[in-house]
Amino acid sequence: MTLAAYACDPVDSRGRRYAQAPAITRSEYQRDRDRIVHSSAFRRLVYKTQVFLNHEGDLFRTRLTHSLEVAQLGRSIARSLQLNEDLVEAIALAHDLGHTPFGHAGQDALNDCMAAYGGFEHNRQSLRVVDKLEQRYPQFDGLNLTFETREGILKHCSQANAQAIEKREPGGVGQRFLNLTQPSLEAQLCNLADEIAYNSHDLDDGVRSGLITLDQLQEVALFDDFRRQALAEFPHLQNKAQGRRLLYDALRRMLSAQVEDVIAATTTALQVTAPISADAVRQSAPLVQFSAEMRAKSQALKVFLLRCLYRHPQVMHAMGQAQQVVRSLFVAYLASPQEMAESFTTRSKVAGDAPNAVNAGARVVADYIAGMTDRFAVREHERLMGLKPLSAIAGLE
Ligand code: MG
Repeated sequence: MTLAAYACDPVDSRGRRYAQAPAITRSEYQRDRDRIVHSSAFRRLVYKTQVFLNHEGDLFRTRLTHSLEVAQLGRSIARSLQLNEDLVEAIALAHDLGHTPFGHAGQDALNDCMAAYGGFEHNRQSLRVVDKLEQRYPQFDGLNLTFETREGILKHCSQANAQAIEKREPGGVGQRFLNLTQPSLEAQLCNLADEIAYNSHDLDDGVRSGLITLDQLQEVALFDDFRRQALAEFPHLQNKAQGRRLLYDALRRMLSAQVEDVIAATTTALQVTAPISADAVRQSAPLVQFSAEMRAKSQALKVFLLRCLYRHPQVMHAMGQAQQVVRSLFVAYLASPQEMAESFTTRSKVAGDAPNAVNAGARVVADYIAGMTDRFAVREHERLMGLKPLSAIAGLE
């Protein structure tokens, strides 16, 4: 694979926080990818909600299948742009490791619970997972990933968190949020691949669930253009019984068009800016992008999904219950840390001696809850509260 001058080359990596001898048969980014795939946090993604609660159907996306789709789209675009596919794959597979159970509803609830203790951000949490929470090596906490993978994982970060990271790791992955520079092209690409993936699979899952209909999608230009194209080429898809094939054919065309658009628009931006290295990319404006037309269409699709799917009463109801689970668990563990798994109870005791013991104790609880799968959170809620209001939503009845 020939890399462009502006791609991240593992030979030039800024390295790992703890020095390790190079692997004989793998590049440093392949090695990062392998460490992520073997992590416990990665395996838990299979039981974490993307939009629909994990139990609601076996065919809905979970955080794991979402991450695989992001990796697939990202790699395919990376190859066309001569970027580093291995790095894109590592970032894509790790980008959601810090997500709480119950999707964004869970993250919002945990952020509310943590408001007085420094807040909770899932991107920051993904970094905590790979830097600290995974315990697999004798000589250090975390997975000891390269700077470039960690840079990509920390997609967003508040100023306060960036300052805290910068204090511990001067010139590290927090710095760009303070001096407002960009991450590598591989990291930029993962952000856009994430958006392309969820816009498309949430439409698919939305239709599968029956909460949105194919007819409703006629108001979404990005989808409808390709629905018409599919019908023009395959008129028999008009038949209602062929609805699913029509949906898939339109989604396939929509995905291809977005991938081709990103490649074309980014190629143009790269020609104009002509960065001579990965570091020159970091000093430039964002370069991985949609064309203006595709950006507007993608935005309109997001607005539709927000209105018709993410805020659908049925989704909101399930998410409201899920938030209650997170809040109750937080209160319960904060009051009784011994109810957590042993390693977290131990951490909680150690936190009690920290200079800022209250915040440190709450952080242990947040780490514990954030690491839970949907179903484990529901079971813990039942065990601690003696209530079963959520058995139905977890499919445990
Ligand atoms: Mg994602």
